[in-house]
Amino acid sequence: FLPHLVASMEEVEQTYIMIKPDGVQRGLVGEIISRFERKGFKLTGLKLFQCPKELAEEHYKDLQSKPFFPKLIDYITSGPVVCMGWEGVGVVASARKLIGATNPLNAEPGTIRGDLAVQTGRNVVHGSDSPDNGKREIGLWFKEGELCAWTAVQEPWLVE
Ligand code: GDP
Ligand code: MG
Repeated sequence: FLPHLVASMEEVEQTYIMIKPDGVQRGLVGEIISRFERKGFKLTGLKLFQCPKELAEEHYKDLQSKPFFPKLIDYITSGPVVCMGWEGVGVVASARKLIGATNPLNAEPGTIRGDLAVQTGRNVVHGSDSPDNGKREIGLWFKEGELCAWTAVQEPWLVE
């Protein structure tokens, strides 16, 4: 009975989840964190952070040419965000499902955006869209020493 060996045979991924300034201002931090916690993923990093403009631009560089880009940068830098690293088997795609569609009006009830938001420009939370971007974004938002590798006591109760 060696759950760590079983888990290591499947893909353990890292994803970057961020509660955007509207989520912080609206008092939704605990609500949002608890959804990932209850699902069974493992928190590896957590901080409240005022994002500088340069970092917001780097994080969203793929959207640079979009007409909403300046508004997006203003939004993300308009107040503190909560930066998180989460780890688990299949965590990247699963977190995107928990978050829901980009436009909260299209997001299913039960998802974070479906339950807690109404507009794309105020959609309360970010989640990496691929394992490669998960690693890239965690590297972007966290410094060395800010992340923790640890064993959760609940692990054998989550993975057979
Ligand atoms: P996500 O991966 O679901 O967050 O969506 P995208 O990667 O396509 O876009 C990143 C973020 O840019 C979204 O979460 C929104 O905050 C913002 N965004 C995307 N499209 C629009 C838009 O049409 N208008 C505005 N105001 N913001 C947008
Ligand atoms: Mg995206």
